[in-house]
Amino acid sequence: MIIIITEDTNLGAKSREDGRAFDELRPLKIEAGVLERADGSAYLEFGGNKILVAVYGPKESHIRRFQRPDRAYIRCRYNMAPFSVDDRKRPGPDRRSMEISKVTAEALQPSILLEKYPRALIDIFIEVLEAEGGTRCAGITAASVALADAGIPMKDMVVACASGKVNDQIVLDLSEVEDKEGQADLPVAIMPRSGEITLLQSDGSLNAGEFEKAVDLAVEGCQAISKVQQDALKKRYGE
Ligand code: UDP
Repeated sequence: MIIIITEDTNLGAKSREDGRAFDELRPLKIEAGVLERADGSAYLEFGGNKILVAVYGPKESHIRRFQRPDRAYIRCRYNMAPFSVDDRKRPGPDRRSMEISKVTAEALQPSILLEKYPRALIDIFIEVLEAEGGTRCAGITAASVALADAGIPMKDMVVACASGKVNDQIVLDLSEVEDKEGQADLPVAIMPRSGEITLLQSDGSLNAGEFEKAVDLAVEGCQAISKVQQDALKKRYGE
């Protein structure tokens, strides 16, 4: 379990539904190179989330719409399995999965040296096998490991983590219950070396002070998750 120590400004606050401290991540496990036929892959477990990512490419794109004369194009498909949630999810794309696919591609894009592969296509498939809140962040974190596993040149990894507001306190890494019952959810992705933010979404309401605190907390969470990404790649490819 990863515990991030930060200045405890929530002393005396109510405890969380799963007993975590306000700045504590759920247990996290990442494995790189789990699929034989993909160019790169990763499997991630984060709390109750189980996510598999496969990467193909860069490969020549024969589809005009996915060609860019000066760089590679990233196509991302985030998909939730029908059995991944309590109420069976209708198979196939919906508004939510299309939105997550789009923001995931945009969050990963700045880390990849796309200009090395004009007209090429990089395919990223994110399959959510079990969901428990925070799947877009977990998918981005796993996809970055799968891209590195595919040997795609990158200037940094991308790592994502949400923070939010639950019971009037700012907390890290919302569970499904916290996501649904909380006052705000703030998914953040960064490139950990530069600290550049590549995704920042916000659902709910936060005042300026809370927003700043939530972003700082999410960034700290990302930095801790980044170490687990690196360990997964070291385990696969040696030190
Ligand atoms: N969820 C669900 N059914 C759905 C979509 C989502 O039960 O059709 C759950 C799932 O656990 C997900 C959580 O609601 O992780 C929060 O979903 P949200 O849209 O906020 O995205 P996420 O937090 O997964 O990035």
